[in-house]
Amino acid sequence: MDVCEGCGLDRDAITADEVIPRVRAGLSRFLGALAPGTPDLARRPAPGVWSVLEYSAHIRDVLLNQREGIIVALVEDGPVKQKMYREQRVDLGMYALETAAEISQSIEVAGRLFTNTFAVLSPEHLARTAVYAGQPRTLRWVGTQAVHEVEHHLADVRAQL
Ligand SMILES: [Zn+2]
Repeated sequence: MDVCEGCGLDRDAITADEVIPRVRAGLSRFLGALAPGTPDLARRPAPGVWSVLEYSAHIRDVLLNQREGIIVALVEDGPVKQKMYREQRVDLGMYALETAAEISQSIEVAGRLFTNTFAVLSPEHLARTAVYAGQPRTLRWVGTQAVHEVEHHLADVRAQL
């Protein structure tokens, strides 16, 4: 069991075959949330809680970051995954200029890049490892974590809409 305390999702219960369809399904719901006509996407519901736009930009960056991490782990043995600095990206204003339309477009691109990368992984590739937050993790785990990130933050977004 590898359960998120926040949302209850068990990464161990997700198979490698489920990763791509679940990431795609989750991202299509993000795109729905970002569709024109949805109000107040930039509003933070409370101090310290991200807006829909910030969660959406975060998910895009997670997928780009995971994709790069996968590629490095295919070439290097047990690399230490570069930190993402999720909070700092927001605090530094990296998402401040992005519109819902721009984030939608980039989510589609990031989703395609991630799923196209995960799609070519062989069973041997899926067993390769990288060190995430001090823990050796397989690339299969990286895929299940991508599912978790998408589904966890989709719940955050839905709670605001
Ligand atoms: Zn979670």
